[in-house]
Amino acid sequence: METLSQDNKQILNPQSPPDNEKQASEIWNKFLELFGHNISELKMNTWFRPIKPISLSENILTISFPSTDYCEMIVTRFGDVLNKAALSILGDNGKLEYEIDSSLPYYEPEIKTGSAQNVPDPSISVVVDSGESYHPNRCYLNQDYTFDNFVKGKSNEFAVAAALSISSRPGSQYNPLMLYGGVGLGKTHLMQAIGNYIQRTSPHMKIMYTSGPDFTTHFVQSIKTNRAHEFERLYKSLDILIVDDIQFLEGKESTQDSFFQIFNSLYQLKKQIVLSCDKPPHQLEGLEERLITRFQWGLTVDIVAPDLETRIAILNKKCEKEGIVAGYEILEFIAVNIKDNIRSLEGCLKSIIFDSELTKSPITLDLAKRNVLKFGGIKNRKQNIDIGTIITSVSKFFNIDESLLRLKSKQQEIVEARHAAMYLSKELTSSSLQTIGSHFGGRNHATVIHACRCVEDSINNNPGFKDKLEQIKDQLLTL
Ligand code: ADP
Ligand code: MG
Repeated sequence: METLSQDNKQILNPQSPPDNEKQASEIWNKFLELFGHNISELKMNTWFRPIKPISLSENILTISFPSTDYCEMIVTRFGDVLNKAALSILGDNGKLEYEIDSSLPYYEPEIKTGSAQNVPDPSISVVVDSGESYHPNRCYLNQDYTFDNFVKGKSNEFAVAAALSISSRPGSQYNPLMLYGGVGLGKTHLMQAIGNYIQRTSPHMKIMYTSGPDFTTHFVQSIKTNRAHEFERLYKSLDILIVDDIQFLEGKESTQDSFFQIFNSLYQLKKQIVLSCDKPPHQLEGLEERLITRFQWGLTVDIVAPDLETRIAILNKKCEKEGIVAGYEILEFIAVNIKDNIRSLEGCLKSIIFDSELTKSPITLDLAKRNVLKFGGIKNRKQNIDIGTIITSVSKFFNIDESLLRLKSKQQEIVEARHAAMYLSKELTSSSLQTIGSHFGGRNHATVIHACRCVEDSINNNPGFKDKLEQIKDQLLTL
């Protein structure tokens, strides 16, 4: 989007007098107030302070971000929250529009020297804009990630044991410690817990947490500003180096070379190195063999997806932290449906809490169901749905006797329901068209294709029908 200075905007847009700006600002304050109930003060200050309300037009509030990256970061992370708040504050069809205004102060992470406070959320990679932004006394740790709030289960027990062990005696046993596993399984949390633990028990130690992408950016910037030497000296002076998502070094030869020098130096001095990767080190492609070998010198531990019990325990822990009461059956429902990623599990719970606060209603199973669907927790259900169940649900929804769907009736309501059931059978089961047809009074595959086409037409032309279909689908997927 075109970047305009504040003055230009006023000239180009006579509809935005200062009054309107004031109104926009008042409305934006309401958003901030609402977020204040759901988002920690630290996050509020870090993420929302740089946003500026610009104008209000009916139920559209325009807000401005200091950069496109910033805007994308906020929308990815809080888009859902923003949309919901817009509906609640601006009314039906209320929405936010975004502008970029590079004259606004750009985001710089606020980090207290030698302290783990005021650190931006590490799950978002912060691009530091000058080589000078890294300081030896900064550790870039997020104090929220501790051993205390990390739930131990079968899926991560070795990783936790290794992490605790090196935390109490860094550098003297498993070096490096390499944690690997899929996205959202707790690698970052555990690595930061190591850093936080050591920082608390040995405050004199120099600790640095960074990620593959940030390390690369820092390295490239140091080259650009003729500071490569300083860069290596800084890293070589550490007592504890934690590098998350090392897979990002794949294919980056010069960065790898620098990392190799740093690794060797720290290793020889018996300084602790902790690494994480999204796959086992030997599967890293585009990474020099000498690095892969070194990664395997210490201890390599995997973290896998948690079992149901652990997932429920994690949800319980998060509820405790937020001071929320949610019944066991609700937590179980979320945990049964969201299996592979703890970040999604957590995201879903947050969304449920937010919904409940926004609508000032208690956390119910229905509320949980709606959010689980949004978080993709339905995929695993697909395998369990059969055509018979679909026929039962559809006929109940349309209030038609099941047997009528199998007969040749041409009555419009029955045809509509039959088509919907055929369409959903194709969508939600892996049955062939032939098999689907056979469940509807022995119809052939051409009839099923015809039914699906009719339904697709109705979906495109009749929002009411689309809505009905979605409702049936939701019911089926959360049975
Ligand atoms: P990864 O780095 O493996 O992608 P993260 O460490 O970022 O995963 O974890 C994603 C989210 O899930 C974080 O908010 C983290 O606190 C939470 N989380 C992961 N594992 C656990 C656990 N065992 N106990 C509590 N929270 C967890
Ligand atoms: Mg991570």
